[in-house]
Amino acid sequence: MSSRPRGLLFIVSAPSGTGKTTIVERLAQQMTGLCLSRSYTSRPARNGERDGVDYTFVTRERFETMVREGAFLEWADVFGNLYGTAAADTEACLAGGSDLVLVIDVQGARQVRACGLAATTVFILPPSAAVLEQRLRGRSKDSEAQIRRRLEVSGGEVCEYTGYDYVVVNDEVDEAVDRLRAIVLAERARTASMRATAEAIVATFAPGRLPC
Ligand code: 5GP
Repeated sequence: MSSRPRGLLFIVSAPSGTGKTTIVERLAQQMTGLCLSRSYTSRPARNGERDGVDYTFVTRERFETMVREGAFLEWADVFGNLYGTAAADTEACLAGGSDLVLVIDVQGARQVRACGLAATTVFILPPSAAVLEQRLRGRSKDSEAQIRRRLEVSGGEVCEYTGYDYVVVNDEVDEAVDRLRAIVLAERARTASMRATAEAIVATFAPGRLPC
């Protein structure tokens, strides 16, 4: 089968602690032709995080220089740290024909929509506020103040689901991965995505005798 000339862009947003990173990482392991974007951040690396793997960790000064140079497709201040997606990385992946998932916050998703880039957007919701709080406490990555701040911000973020194309509830991780996979497969099966493949198949039928 011939491949699509350009990859599809997916945006996944969710409140902190919803489990979006786990879900998209599992999805990327299961699916071929699907890459995860690696963001730049001015946030210090947490224990166990690796530069160039989890994020590209840069100083705030370096990040701000990149903003001035127009290096980011989108960027945002999240919980006092700067996060951004390099435009060149995104373009290289999509131009190479791979589908790409950006795991970014709601501000970043708004910027990508505003710049007119075609993207399928997915909002991941936790089953409830109580479950989100349990998960944030359970992962023990954050201080009590950070947990409270994340919960406060999540109240505003969850209302943004209406601006997204799809909603996935992360009640059970494997099921959430299955739902996200179904979305990617459906987008890949759209007529616009399948055009090159379909045309190659159609061309094998008697040319000149077809109505299309
Ligand atoms: P964390 O510090 O927990 O890794 O991420 C905090 C938040 O920043 C998450 O909501 C995550 O989705 C968001 N984030 C990570 N990378 C980016 C990015 O490149 N752009 C934007 N806008 N948000 C990001």
